[in-house]
Amino acid sequence: MANAATSPDVAPPAMTVSKEVAIEISGMNKWYGEFHVLKNIDLTVNKGERIVVCGPSGSGKSTLIRCINALEKHQSGKIVVDGIELTSDLKKIDEIRRDVGMVFQHFNLFPHLTILENCTLAPIWVKKMPKKQANEIAMEYLTRVKIPEQANKYPGQLSGGQQQRVAIARSLCMSPNVMLFDEPTSALDPEMIKEVLDVMVDLAQSGMTMICVTHEMGFARQVANRVVFMDQGQIVESNAPEPFFTNPQHERTKLFLSQIL
Ligand code: ADP
Ligand code: MG
Repeated sequence: MANAATSPDVAPPAMTVSKEVAIEISGMNKWYGEFHVLKNIDLTVNKGERIVVCGPSGSGKSTLIRCINALEKHQSGKIVVDGIELTSDLKKIDEIRRDVGMVFQHFNLFPHLTILENCTLAPIWVKKMPKKQANEIAMEYLTRVKIPEQANKYPGQLSGGQQQRVAIARSLCMSPNVMLFDEPTSALDPEMIKEVLDVMVDLAQSGMTMICVTHEMGFARQVANRVVFMDQGQIVESNAPEPFFTNPQHERTKLFLSQIL
């Protein structure tokens, strides 16, 4: 039998989890008007963790990750990202947003800018990076997501899978410490899902701290170290992928898994 410790073919990818905390959410609540959308959320994410968040539509998954970079405001409890507590202090919100990349279901690229310009806009204007350096970094990330040849095209000229890979590259150009993904493959045609997941797997293996809302359970099994199940604004269950899928503890989790697997 091959020795797993010495054979590069079977060695596990370097996905180590640090003891340092990247995101700490405690006793967090959010309302939309009268509607209590997130209920007493506790979630601590250490550096290097890959968390997959799943749950029925309307359970609050998007709202939760949008709260982490202050796209939505929480009303009580605490959210701390890389040691910075999220309050209504705009300077802190800016700091956190620089640190946290976000990829949405619908790409959200700027249609009137080229792929390269989409990737360099924030580094140039937010980080005040010289244009030449921003271009070089953008080309590195476009190469990493395997579309450097598309740099001078516009988003409308690319397939959905390519646009989503640009969206990922664009986020990476800001050198985030944490990446949030909100159903990044659910608007894609099936044949394009893999090319985006491959990029996300690569990112996970590079040690990025990630929270991914996705129903791609193959991805969850491959890279997540923890799967979090939400229902009706609550975290119902949280476990490593293997026990989560093979031995879910709560009826709501069992029902959900029976519907999607
Ligand atoms: P998920 O991503 O799990 O599908 P969301 O976080 O998008 O869930 O939404 C959770 C609940 O909050 C849903 O009932 C949704 O209708 C409601 N909701 C989402 N955004 C808003 C908003 N801006 N105003 C009021 N209600 C909202
Ligand atoms: Mg959602």
